[in-house]
Amino acid sequence: MSSKISSLFTDRKLSFKITISFLGLLLLTVTILYLIFFNLAQKYFLSIEGIEVGARVQKISSLLTEPIINGSQKKIEELTQTLSFTYGSTIWVINQDGEVIASTNGVGMDNLNLEEAEINGILTGNVVTKQVAGPNYNSLFNVVPIRDAESDTVVGAVAVTASLGRLNDIMANIVRYALYAIIILIPFALIIGIFMSRIISRPIEKMSEVAQEISDGNFTKRVDYKANGELERLIGTFNLAVSKVVESLEEKDKLMKLQNDFLSNISHEFRSPLTSLRGFLELLQDKKIDPQDNPNYVNIMLQDTLHLNRLVEDLLNLSSLQSGHISLKLAPLKVNELLEWIEQRYVMQAQEKGIFLKVSYLSDSELILVDTDRVHQVLINLLDNAFHYTSEGDSIELSAQVISDSKEIAFHVHDSGLGIPPDHLEHIWDKFYKVEEARTRTESGSGIGLAIVKQIVEMHGGRVSVESSPDKGSVFSFTLPSSS
Ligand code: ADP
Repeated sequence: MSSKISSLFTDRKLSFKITISFLGLLLLTVTILYLIFFNLAQKYFLSIEGIEVGARVQKISSLLTEPIINGSQKKIEELTQTLSFTYGSTIWVINQDGEVIASTNGVGMDNLNLEEAEINGILTGNVVTKQVAGPNYNSLFNVVPIRDAESDTVVGAVAVTASLGRLNDIMANIVRYALYAIIILIPFALIIGIFMSRIISRPIEKMSEVAQEISDGNFTKRVDYKANGELERLIGTFNLAVSKVVESLEEKDKLMKLQNDFLSNISHEFRSPLTSLRGFLELLQDKKIDPQDNPNYVNIMLQDTLHLNRLVEDLLNLSSLQSGHISLKLAPLKVNELLEWIEQRYVMQAQEKGIFLKVSYLSDSELILVDTDRVHQVLINLLDNAFHYTSEGDSIELSAQVISDSKEIAFHVHDSGLGIPPDHLEHIWDKFYKVEEARTRTESGSGIGLAIVKQIVEMHGGRVSVESSPDKGSVFSFTLPSSS
């Protein structure tokens, strides 16, 4: 039975549960308050009645004291009838043997409602007050002993009842008004309950709808509901949690895509030199190559091997840099020494290619705090590119510049070569990115060089940038922290 009731409740909507709970709680509170009030009111009115009856019995008993002491039965009976009429009460007069000697209800003990022990108690001087109620009557019963002041003995007792009909009427009215109040209260409580349940349940229902949509794959969905206080915070936290989950899913997808791109790029990069190597080796094996041409083919195979070698080295280099396990061996390095080192390395190449190489030194002896080997690699990658994308008659300039307010030194590698179309500029630092497959050198370009440059510069806390226009040339710049 109770499980049936609870399943009736649990299968319902949240708003229904809240409304019913609110209504139930309200009715329970009202009932408890009503019971307490009813009890207190009854006690209060009863005590007032008690005081009135007490005063009345005192008056009646004082008037009956003398005839009782004198034992004048006739007077006792007359006075009993008169007083009963005057006060509207039933009166019993008891003698010192505990027998009823006069009563407005007839002489006898039957309707006196007193136990023997109570009569004995009264005759020893006690006062008895009790409520006597039956199906058709409800009265207050008060018995006082009559004392003979001279002998200080109890000579009898007077019992008086007073109807509690007035009290009954008052209590019946309280019950009636309480019922009216509950009947009026229920629709109000229902309206408030429904209103409150909507305030609480709507956002929760909204969240559950959105959660359902998100689980169906609609990741753009968010809870758009105006609430206040905790519910507003709950919606905010829910939306934030959803965004974070979606973000991490997207991040995962992105990583997967990067991984796939990376694998396909690597395969692509390896495939062309390997295919070429395989082709020449098969020709050699089948002796289909004129021995006179051997040095030529061997040279091509050597270039392919060098390209593969450089590719593997670049990849290892980049992956170890990106792994985060590499720590830089920072030490102060003179900027002019670095520039001189580069100049010596490339001066011959420039002469051979007919390119004008200019290195602009700093006037002051500035120091940078860097990992020297890594910075060498940055400049080598940039100058290799500059030499590659320039031709005879072009110029390459390497310069450094002190950025006074940010305590950095900026380096610029400026060439007047091929340049880069604007729409490629933002991708130039990405792994494997090549501006045009066709124009890229086939012997060694892998699209990793600039990614390595960016990684190393950023590990030093610097920034990279590029400015370029097709056929006019490019300026690759980066900053490094100064040592001062
Ligand atoms: P790679 O190892 O192939 O040179 P990089 O990452 O160094 O790869 O360069 C990426 C691409 O940027 C190159 O394929 C080339 O198209 C372009 N690039 C780099 N430096 C220059 C430059 N100085 N002038 C013109 N294009 C350049």
